[in-house]
Amino acid sequence: MRGRADLAVYAGTELLAGSVPVGAVTRAVRVMARGKSIGRVVAAILLNRALLDRMGAAGRVEPPDRLLVRTGVGAAAIPVGRASDIRISGRRYRIFAERVVDAPTRIVLAAAAPRAGIGEGTGKRTLWLILASLISLATLAFAARGIYSVSGRRLRRAPRRRDVRQVLGLVGDALESTHDPDRLLPVILHASMEATGAAAGVATRGGDEVAREGSFERTGQPLRLELASSEAGGESLALILHPEPTGFDDRTVALAHSLVAQAAVALDNARLHGIVKRQAVTDDLTGLSNRRFFREALATELQRAERFGNALALIVVDIDDFKRVNDRFGHQAGDEVLRAFAETLLGRIRGVDLGARLGGEEFAILLPETDAAGAEGLAENLRAAVADLVVSIGQHEVRITASFGVAAFPEARGADELMTAADLALYSAKRQGKDRVVAVGPEKP
Ligand code: GH3
Ligand code: MG
Ligand code: MG
Repeated sequence: MRGRADLAVYAGTELLAGSVPVGAVTRAVRVMARGKSIGRVVAAILLNRALLDRMGAAGRVEPPDRLLVRTGVGAAAIPVGRASDIRISGRRYRIFAERVVDAPTRIVLAAAAPRAGIGEGTGKRTLWLILASLISLATLAFAARGIYSVSGRRLRRAPRRRDVRQVLGLVGDALESTHDPDRLLPVILHASMEATGAAAGVATRGGDEVAREGSFERTGQPLRLELASSEAGGESLALILHPEPTGFDDRTVALAHSLVAQAAVALDNARLHGIVKRQAVTDDLTGLSNRRFFREALATELQRAERFGNALALIVVDIDDFKRVNDRFGHQAGDEVLRAFAETLLGRIRGVDLGARLGGEEFAILLPETDAAGAEGLAENLRAAVADLVVSIGQHEVRITASFGVAAFPEARGADELMTAADLALYSAKRQGKDRVVAVGPEKP
């Protein structure tokens, strides 16, 4: 894939060099000089049969399993980020899809397995993992190329920190979609080498080499980067990058450290994913995440927000006078209302948001990269949607309202402080008469 990416350089909208093939997945990196945008570098990978074949081979996707690309309207019909069923040439397939680009045309990459071939072990199938890895690799190839071209080879101009961070964000997102640490290490090594121009590198786990790339003849002073230290209780993970004989310059060393920080979070996520896979992660009644998973995700997202200076918001929700619903219509009807309520929430949050049932008729929503104002707006929409919700129970039409408490990082720091702040806001909403949203202001956390 590496050699096949096309590059184009734009100044404003004027194409200076290269071309972007039609039907390609593109990633653009803005190039800044003295605080001004002087143009863009666009990396593109042509999405065609040949690419799919190469990806399929790399991910060992063999017939009857297959990879497919859908664009435009065809792509819009495919749910992303979860499994669904579709028909291809009269045959039913279970597919796992990921969005590759959204604008100007939506493009979706999917891995498909014939429905008939999936037995009880559906959950154990690795297609999802394969797809996530492939997409990671594709995105990493873009991102790495973006960094490499912008960082001097073509434009001989240092990108501003923010621009590098944007590119690193891409890498982070790509890494995040993969949940297998063993698959991640070679990817991280590869991306780090691409980004730093290292001649060779190894990844080690507990001191043992687990991945290796490049030629180790005639290299400079190696750079060791810790992905995870054994102090945290796990195994130590490290990358050792060998530069060309001239060595790495300071900026490249800084870049490598940033990249590894991203990778460390991804590995944490992968570890977390491993843990929660073994535990029950969802609430049986509503299908939302359960409290335990929510707490784990809150900790991970907070860590991420702290590391990268992102915002993070939390909404807690409690249904108003729910006891009366039970008393009047029975517990089963109450359960039905809880399900409908959860669906209402789920239908209105983004894929990256996490909706959870904390217990009883209390829920929470975790909103990465969202500030207090954004979360308050969403909470207000949710409040209105809940107030409009009508659940038919036999002859009856049951209506409910809910109260919302909103808190955000960095105004509140730490998981407990964030939860407490949101709970206090919720309590305040109840006290003020319910069916309302109260947000913790920055001045009174
Ligand atoms: P408030 O507006 O102050 O929140 O009043 P409320 O009645 O909603 O709150 P309260 O905490 O007094 O009662 C919560 C009720 O939720 C009591 C319990 O019967 C009901 N509940 C908790 N879990 C479930 C459940 O899983 N299913 C059903 N049907 N009801 C539940
Ligand atoms: Mg309640
Ligand atoms: Mg309650």
